[in-house]
Amino acid sequence: MADKEKKKKISQIDIYKAWCKACGICVAFCPMGVLGRDEGGYPYVKSLEKCINCGWCEIRCPDFAITVHAKKGEIEEIRESFEKEEEERTTAPGE
Ligand code: SF4
Ligand code: SF4
Repeated sequence: MADKEKKKKISQIDIYKAWCKACGICVAFCPMGVLGRDEGGYPYVKSLEKCINCGWCEIRCPDFAITVHAKKGEIEEIRESFEKEEEERTTAPGE
């Protein structure tokens, strides 16, 4: 169980300014205060280290202008950890 310790995953947030209408919804819904608004009202990443990868900004954006995902290289790591958990579940004693 020593390897149960979770490493913090670093998110990557992409904002497509061409699609963004500066409505501020993503900023308002972010529970961690990761996003800020510039002088034009457009969102920018203020504190990436606070992002918990919840996806609320992406889900709430009406214009598909913001996406959040694990940083390259960590996606495989996350997938492997899910596969490992699934394997442990299916081979649990007493099953
Ligand atoms: S994924 Fe969640 S925590 Fe990260 S910026 Fe979006 S709303 Fe905020
Ligand atoms: S919710 Fe979407 S359109 Fe509105 S400010 Fe955020 S990225 Fe731009």
